[in-house]
Amino acid sequence: MAEKIDGRAIARELDALTKAEIDAMVAAGRERPGLTVVLVGDDPASEVYVTHKVRACERVGLRSAEHRLPAATTQDELLALIGRLNADAHVHGILVQVPLPDHIDERAVIEAIDPAKDVDGFHPVNVGRLSTGTGGLRPCTPLGCIKLLQSVEPDLAGMDALVIGRSNIVGKPVAMMLTALGCTVTIAHSKTRDLPGKARAADIVVAAVGIANFVKGDWIKDGAIVIDVGINRTPGENGKDRLVGDVAFDEVQHARAVTPVPGGVGPMTIAVLLANTVQAAKALSA
Ligand code: NAD
Repeated sequence: MAEKIDGRAIARELDALTKAEIDAMVAAGRERPGLTVVLVGDDPASEVYVTHKVRACERVGLRSAEHRLPAATTQDELLALIGRLNADAHVHGILVQVPLPDHIDERAVIEAIDPAKDVDGFHPVNVGRLSTGTGGLRPCTPLGCIKLLQSVEPDLAGMDALVIGRSNIVGKPVAMMLTALGCTVTIAHSKTRDLPGKARAADIVVAAVGIANFVKGDWIKDGAIVIDVGINRTPGENGKDRLVGDVAFDEVQHARAVTPVPGGVGPMTIAVLLANTVQAAKALSA
């Protein structure tokens, strides 16, 4: 049986470290770090995410503030709010929940955030810093994937890794992080030929595709480590949706370790967000 990588437990460990850092900062007379979350519109999934993030802040002792704006908010109004948050010394992290309504240019909004407060790690300055390995804030889900991998194998140097998916928020950054850690990385995507063959050659497979049970058991070599980023809703029992990953979990039990969905990568994303906010607060006050 493959080891089931317990993302909830590893996220709790990271939260404990984050809380200890916050407690130490406050004990030293420094300001309690604070995260501000901006939500535009009434997308139900986004509302749930924002509520989870705010509750998570409370758990570790971060200050949190929410700006819930109507769907009709103009891009200029949103940019003006971000300008005020950038200038507010009590705000250490700014997170704009995506997706934004269609009339707002997501790129322009991300680029308006002060890179020093960009706790999502999506600003081009932070993307550039990741690619050059020079400090900065790292995107949460990819860094969460790396922490899960390192819980199984602390030294990833020399391993062959296949990342399936080339999005800016998951595939590309996770591939850059693996490269920096000494892996030889292949980035696969919808145009890739012989994906099963490439997967079979990999010591590490990170699946970030968004198709339920896409990665089959016979794609995974014995002893590989499999990280499943996918979150796919499929009809479950009693008419309720069930969350499944991109990997056919039951078929990959010959792997060394695999993340479940739910309970794998998902919990890590918020834990890294909180850790990033503390990192941002420290850098801003240094
Ligand atoms: P995306 O749609 O932006 O990217 C999907 C990628 O999959 C693309 O690069 C595409 O080329 C590739 N792809 C599509 N079909 C393919 C095929 N047949 N063969 C190979 N590659 C193929 O998605 P994303 O934002 O990167 O998210 C991927 C998944 O991860 C989604 O299920 C999303 O919900 C999930 N996700 C989870 C978290 C988390 O916290 N756990 C965070 C972000 C995204």
